[in-house]
Amino acid sequence: MPKQETKSVVLLQHHLKSLKLPTILAECEKLAARCATDNVDHLGYLLQLCELELIDRERRAAERRLKAAKFPTHKTLETFDFKAQPSVNKLLVTELMRGEYLDKRENVLLVGNSGTGKTHLSTALGIAACGQGKRVRFFQVTELITQLMEAREDRDLTRLKRQLSKLDLLILDELGYVPASKLGAELLFDVISTAYERLSVIVTTNLPFENWTEVLGSERLTGATLDRLTHRCHILEATGDSFRLRDAKDRRMKRSSGTPKTPKK
Ligand code: ADP
Ligand code: MG
Repeated sequence: MPKQETKSVVLLQHHLKSLKLPTILAECEKLAARCATDNVDHLGYLLQLCELELIDRERRAAERRLKAAKFPTHKTLETFDFKAQPSVNKLLVTELMRGEYLDKRENVLLVGNSGTGKTHLSTALGIAACGQGKRVRFFQVTELITQLMEAREDRDLTRLKRQLSKLDLLILDELGYVPASKLGAELLFDVISTAYERLSVIVTTNLPFENWTEVLGSERLTGATLDRLTHRCHILEATGDSFRLRDAKDRRMKRSSGTPKTPKK
């Protein structure tokens, strides 16, 4: 390679780094050679480079959104067996996966016993939302309440609440397993009130509405929370058996019905 060209490549690499165009930096030389062979003109070359950078940028952003959402496990609709849980409204789940509810700031409530796929479905909805460019955060309710209380003690509550208000979708998993303290319930209510009509909230719960007072304490707070959550809301109910339990039973059945090998005579 002539000396002048080497110098210009080094300079170009430096500029591409300053401009934060890592994919163009990685691909420009290879693609230049290919475009020269294929007789692609300069603008065609530049177009291909820009396209590569854009695709990669979107992929990196999607990865960042997934990481920031902090899903406990990676669950998608492909692995959800609707036949195993026929009470779940498949049509509604499919519609929600398209994400229009997010633009309308509507909420989703998933109600059902333990093991009926509530966490699975709320995660699948959250992952789909990330793929659609939305900012999502998944919390177990107790985890959020703890963080709110700690932030309050550290005089950091405003910052945490500001972070939450920037989301497009807040997932609150497992409302109902542990009763919240009075302060905890108030802080949770505050988050739900702030989210109201600004962002979508998905709540999963094992409790029928009439029992929410057990968790949130006061009737007044429960009424106000339900009022906001259910105002523009899609309700998914799972009334079937626990998938975990059935899965374990199936495996046990298979083990015990497995015919022992007959010894060769
Ligand atoms: P819940 O949150 O309602 O207690 P989970 O969503 O945690 O239940 O489900 C328990 C386990 O069973 C998870 O591993 C989940 O992926 C699986 N599961 C539940 N329902 C189904 C289903 N219909 N199809 C496939 N897997 C399921
Ligand atoms: Mg769960």
